[in-house]
Amino acid sequence: MIPDPEQERREILRRYKELLKYAYPLVPDREERKQIKKAFQIAVDAHKEMRRKSGEPYIYHPIAVAQIVVQEMGLGATSVICALLHDVVEDTELTLEDIEKFFGPTVARIIDGLTKISGVFDNTKSIQAENFRKIVLTLSEDIRVILIKIADRLHNMRTLEHMRRDKQLKIASETLFLYAPLAHRLGLYNIKTELEDLSLKYVEPEAYQEIINKLEKSKDVRERFIRQFTQPIKKKLDEMGLVYEIKGRTKSVYSIWNKIHNKGVPFEEIYDIFAIRIILDVPQQLEKSEIWKTYSVVTDLYQPKPDRLRDWISFPRANGYESLHVTVMSPTGKWVEVQIRSKRMDEVAERGYAAHWKYKESNTETAIDEWITRIRELLENKEEEAVDFVDAFKLNLYTDEIYVFTPKGELKTLPANATALDFAYEIHSDVGDHCLGAKVNNKLVPLSYRLNSGDQIEIITSQKQTPKEDWLNFVNTSKAKAKIKAALKEEKKRIAEEGKAIFERKLRRLNFNFNPEDINTLLKYFKLPDEQEFFYRVGKGIITSQQIKNFYREEGKKSWYSYLTNRLSRKATKKKEEKENFDSLLKKFDRGSEQLLIGDSEEKIDYTLAPCCNPIPGDEVFGFVTINDGIKIHKISCPNAIQLLSNYAYRVVKAKWVGAETLSFLTGITVKGIDEVGIVNKITKLISNQMKVNMRSLSFDSNDGIFEGKITLFVQDTRHLNELMEKLKRVPGVTSVERIDQA
Ligand code: MN
Repeated sequence: MIPDPEQERREILRRYKELLKYAYPLVPDREERKQIKKAFQIAVDAHKEMRRKSGEPYIYHPIAVAQIVVQEMGLGATSVICALLHDVVEDTELTLEDIEKFFGPTVARIIDGLTKISGVFDNTKSIQAENFRKIVLTLSEDIRVILIKIADRLHNMRTLEHMRRDKQLKIASETLFLYAPLAHRLGLYNIKTELEDLSLKYVEPEAYQEIINKLEKSKDVRERFIRQFTQPIKKKLDEMGLVYEIKGRTKSVYSIWNKIHNKGVPFEEIYDIFAIRIILDVPQQLEKSEIWKTYSVVTDLYQPKPDRLRDWISFPRANGYESLHVTVMSPTGKWVEVQIRSKRMDEVAERGYAAHWKYKESNTETAIDEWITRIRELLENKEEEAVDFVDAFKLNLYTDEIYVFTPKGELKTLPANATALDFAYEIHSDVGDHCLGAKVNNKLVPLSYRLNSGDQIEIITSQKQTPKEDWLNFVNTSKAKAKIKAALKEEKKRIAEEGKAIFERKLRRLNFNFNPEDINTLLKYFKLPDEQEFFYRVGKGIITSQQIKNFYREEGKKSWYSYLTNRLSRKATKKKEEKENFDSLLKKFDRGSEQLLIGDSEEKIDYTLAPCCNPIPGDEVFGFVTINDGIKIHKISCPNAIQLLSNYAYRVVKAKWVGAETLSFLTGITVKGIDEVGIVNKITKLISNQMKVNMRSLSFDSNDGIFEGKITLFVQDTRHLNELMEKLKRVPGVTSVERIDQA
């Protein structure tokens, strides 16, 4: 459809007038009003050939951004002018000099900042998060740059449906990651909430819709509840002659989603899905006393939760938020949060500091300056709400980089698939080479652990550690790969030299003579590319003495044939024996009616306990008739059970433990935990001294700072075993104890 130019012109004017409706009350100065008009005309002209993705005239966008700036942020003339012009230098013929000529240096500086910052925020594939604060500070000499940028983003989010899906995802996740936390920090609560909700709508469309539906469905009940709950409060406040407004405020979709998603709380169980807000219309000097009066009305009517009083009136939050929050018990047994604040506080809370100056006697410009200074202080203050920033980083869902922290809180940027070992190499190649393990958010993880944005990582090193071949399987940064390869190459050379010495020694022992010319024949025989590889494998023990012996034998054509025939005939005899054995066993055992009783000394049939699952009394078991090993008792949960039961059902017999013989049965457990000095000692002491259990074998393996112990031991039954396992679990440092089938 071809748009009607006349109709469009009228629509542009209508939108402009709407903007003025909000701007004029804040811009009483006639000269400034003229400047706004000029900015509008220049922008219309500059963008006249351009259209948005939706097909609409491009100028709708700057007008909308200007309206957000004035209506939702409460900024003044300069910001409106800059918002109208924010895309002209970047997208049209107009230059910065033109802007300066028309509007002077302040506007030109802000437009310059906006143009530069869009390069940083939008065009680079990866946001340099470590420089995030720096960028914000240097490019935004004037905080209005950031505010207009946020307004720009808000409008783009509101019109995101016209974008391609991949763009939607990129923009939405960037918004969650950068703009929403920024808006939060600047105290723009409403905008922050809207940015988050809109982002979620595109990033998690189904979850978003589901929450919307649930909110809609529960609306009537909620509203009835709020009416009943607030009715007595209203009555009291009226009696006291206070002027106020009471609203029920529903939690944002995004924060509901966050609770469901991150805390695992189902929608129905989120107790603070809404809050009651009491907004007092009161002169500033009476704010405090009336808020506390209201507090006492509420808590006289409803029992407060002692640990849920939040007094941001005496101690306003860093972003300017002031309010008194109290959680009380409703007559229906539900906790309800009540927020009490003045009208002024409410406006500041929703629109940020911008709302402040409205309440100041001073003139507009100095008030804004004052505000800018406070915001700059906020941004410069690193400690402040650092946690909020970390949380925001974690929401970074679709970028190809992650942002992680050192133990000292220093930020590092890594590719999205980076592991703990990549991080170690990122710190220093020496840290990487000697990396033994890592603690992520204070939890021990293997080197191959995939990092997530927001993780804090501590690397554990040991001088004994050296780079391992398999490390290459899980590092993803080119830096780590290159360093590991270089170290391995060095290591390989060293082992090859050792291997050569070993090889020569072996040959001497075998009474073979090593002829350097043999090396080519050797390489062909073992299918290897070069000498170094061969000696390396010898050094590593991959090529065994037996293989070397074989090579020389074959090469020497020593009676190989007779050896083979001998072996084959032996195998054949064994097969025959096996068959006879099996037949007699099946005959002996009349299946169907009988049940094999294990542990009963009267039982005449031989059985053994299967080594694949090592059943012990108490386990559910079955017997399996084997070909030459009698009946084997397996656990029902044996890894082989399914296969045995389905393929050889006819060989399976019912079995049951009887009697309480004081026999000991062999079983195995694995114990995992954090590798600490003396831990093995603690474990073995517990087993042998305290529990008086005999161990048959014990092996401990330590890797990446985590140990894994395999212990085979003799227990009486499952009860005995479980008791032991429970005790082991309580040993400090032990993180898991499991029974293993294969002892
Ligand atoms: Mn724009």
